[in-house]
Formats: sequence, C-alpha cells, structure tokens
Amino acid sequence: MPYYVTTPIYYVNGEPHLGHAYTTIAADVLARHMRQRGEDVFFLTGTDEHGEPVAQEAERLGITPRELGDRNAVRFKELAARLSVTNDFFIRTTDPEHMAKVAEVVQRIHDNGHVYAGTYEGFYCPRCADFKTEAELEEGNRCPIHKIELQIEKEDNWFFRLSAFQEPLEQLYAERPGFVTPQNRYNEALSFIRGGLRDVSLSRARLKWGVPVPWDESQVVYVWIDALLNYYTALSYARDGEDLTERFWPASVHLIGKDILKFHAVIWPALLMAAEIEVPQKVTIHGYLLLGEHKMSKSLGNVIEPNHVAEVYGPDALRFYVLREVSFGSDGEVSAEGFETRYTTELANEYGNLASRTLAMVERYRDGVVPSAEPPAELAAEFDGLVQSVCAGIDEVELTATLDEIWRRIKRLNRYVQDEEPWQLAKDDAQADRLDQVLYTLAEGLRVVSVLLHPFMPGSTERLLAALGREELGLDGARLGAVEGGATVGELGQLFPRVEAEAPAA
Ligand SMILES: [Zn+2]
Repeated sequence: MPYYVTTPIYYVNGEPHLGHAYTTIAADVLARHMRQRGEDVFFLTGTDEHGEPVAQEAERLGITPRELGDRNAVRFKELAARLSVTNDFFIRTTDPEHMAKVAEVVQRIHDNGHVYAGTYEGFYCPRCADFKTEAELEEGNRCPIHKIELQIEKEDNWFFRLSAFQEPLEQLYAERPGFVTPQNRYNEALSFIRGGLRDVSLSRARLKWGVPVPWDESQVVYVWIDALLNYYTALSYARDGEDLTERFWPASVHLIGKDILKFHAVIWPALLMAAEIEVPQKVTIHGYLLLGEHKMSKSLGNVIEPNHVAEVYGPDALRFYVLREVSFGSDGEVSAEGFETRYTTELANEYGNLASRTLAMVERYRDGVVPSAEPPAELAAEFDGLVQSVCAGIDEVELTATLDEIWRRIKRLNRYVQDEEPWQLAKDDAQADRLDQVLYTLAEGLRVVSVLLHPFMPGSTERLLAALGREELGLDGARLGAVEGGATVGELGQLFPRVEAEAPAA
C-alpha cells in the first residue's frame, strides 16, 4: 500500500529549533514503521521560502530573500540528517517545478469559477502573513500569536471563494470522522466551518516575492496557498523523469502543529476540491513542547537545542525523549534536566543495561551462542498481540502510547532477569535447561522490542540487533518466539554511555 507522510514546510525566516525537530522526528517514526511493514512509503519535508515574513527578514539582514532561503534551507536539511531522518525528498517552494505547478493548479481553480477580484480590508499580521478576523484578535487589536498591535490594511487582490465550500466541507467531516485527529482538533475545525466561512485572499498585490498569478502578473499567489500546494506539487518532480502523483496522492497523513490547523483542515481541502483534486486521508495535529523554568543541566545548559543534544547524546536519545515525555497530541513541558533523567533511568539503565547484561551472560554461560528454548508461557502471553497493538497505535498516530506499550515490555524483561537470577542458575548444572530458557527469552525479548523500537531509535536498535546476530527489521518477525536460538552474539559496547558534564563556556 502507498503511504505518504508530510511535515509542514518550515519558514526560512528563522533557524530550526526543537519544535521543527519534533514534527520531523514524528513523521520519520511513521515513515520508518511503514517501511518495516513493507508499505510503499514517501516522506516529504522542506522549506517555505516565499511571503512577507521571509522578505522582511531578508531586508533586515541586508540580503535577498533567495540568499536567506539558501542559507536557512541548508540548516533545516542538516538538522534532518543529524536526527537520522529519512525523508525521500526536501522541497523548497522556490523550486521552479513547484512554482510552475502552483501556477497550474491556481489557474485551474480560477477556470473552475472559484476566483474573483475584490478588495480586502482587515487587520493584518505581517508576521503571520495573515489577515485576522475580529473574533481572533486579542485586546488592543493584537495578533493572538505575535502579540503585536495590528493595523487595518486594504488592498485589491484575487479572492478564493472559500464560502462556497462550507457545505462540501461539512459533508467531508460527516463522512470522514477521522479526517482530522485528535478528536478535539476535529471538533475545533468543524465548529470553525459551521461558524461560517469567509472568502480568503488568493493573491497579494504589494508583495513581489512569490509565484506570479498566471492571469495577472502584477500579483503573487498568497504565500499560504503557495505553501499548502507543496504537498501535491512535490510528487510531480521529486524523482527525475517520473511523476509520483498517481502512486502517492492523496497523502496518508499531514502532520502539523496546532497553530496551522485552520489552513490545513479548512482552506487546504477546499482548495483541493476547487481544483478537483482528492483531499488527503488525514490531518494529524500535535501539541507544543513547552520549555519551563528548570534547574540548569550539567551538559546541556537550560535549553534543549536539537543540534546540540544530538551531538552530545546522539539523535536517538532526543527522538526518544520528545516522544516519551509529552503525550503526542497534547502540550507538555520538556527540560534539559528531564531529558537527562530519562536518558539515565530509561535509556542507559532499563534498555542499555538489559542489553549488555544479556549479551554478557550469553557470552559467559553459553560461549556466545543464544540457546534454543521456549519462552515461559506467562511472559509469552504478555508479549502476545504487541505487534498488532503497535501497528494500530501508529495508524492512529498515537506515538507516545505506542512507545509506552513497547517500553512496558522492556520493564517486564528487567523484572524477569531479577526474578530468575540467571547468575545463580549458572552455578547449578541441574538448572541448565532453565538457564537456556532465561537466556533465550531475554535475547528474543530484546530482539522483539528492538525491532518495534527501531522507528523511534534507529541507530541504537540497529547496533543492538547486530550484536544479537539478528538484523532483520521486518514486522513479520516482531513476535516473541518467531526466531529460534543459534545466533552468535557480538560486541555491543555502551548503547547509551554516560555523558560527562561539559566545561562551562568561557
Ligand atoms: Zn501574528
């Protein structure tokens, strides 16, 4: 089955931060899991390079918007690589192929009768590049996001007849209760639609940095419409000489932050309907990672800067932490201190130590070969249905709950070692079969959880699976007892080594 997952494209007026890393990591978990399941996956991320915020920031820096785009797109690409992210393409809205396709789709929307000339007057936030309705404004006519006082702006531009799509959108929501998740965001989008839709600007007259409107080159396509279309245009040119649209459209999941819900859950499906293009299967919204007031951490200071964390602790630790700490879909606090606690207690102790103990015991008691045995029925029962439940969790994009499902089995294996005390069994030859069972169950349990954890922590799980002598990642084998003993174990080293505090910055 084709599976197409996207992140929002990131504005190049700023540098990448933890929020960008969060969405990209989440999308990568989905993509990697679906590949393990044998699906035909396409994973897209990229940068949004047009519009007023970019033009303004470039002006402030005394460079062209193109130069700003070039400079910051590289930073987003580098961050993705540093976080072990496996996107299949990186789109930039300044790509000429994207711009040509935007013009084509906008022309189609125009030709279908959904565009008219008008005058817009309203409160406008230059930082959002968006007009605000009076209901959205905060006291003193302030932008609810940027808190700056907004002025009334007026300009002649081209309008998209969003109001005409109120009924089709209500119908879409009625037919597809999973179109927007989680449920509270579905309700929020639907009540916005039911509240009555006003037409929106399709173009800007004053700004020159964008895709020219094909029938009126004095205007450029409004940056949001240009940006939303990236999900569709990318497929037409991501592969040289091949159009992937038929194969992957409509998108399976658009992953977004809650601040851009209206654009993705209301305007985007309406635009697609206007262009007679199928709407995506699902829009999934995650919450914010909030940086609270906390004690300074020894190695990270008091912020979580994704490049720095990945450099000091490795990408897997950051990937794990952000999805473990805050329930995916909700807002929650993160801190450098909290990161270090989870790194030590969960990654190094619960997972890393379990792995090194198991390998060391197989080495010492069985000459490095995992014995063949049956896992005990009680423990096997606790692993029953795990892979199905992980698949279901990923289908619902419930990443934190899925990670927790897997982690409970790691804790279970730790209890099992403590209960069985294999180092005692090893002293008594009469307990040889029992010891075989314990060693086999630990190696097999570690193998299963590592296969399932692989999308979350790709590098560490690959190292561990290689040390277990079982590198196969397919989910068919992610069942306790699916693989027999006989593998020769190898060296692992420390999966999550202790990180020494850095010298204070001079
Ligand atoms: Zn704003």
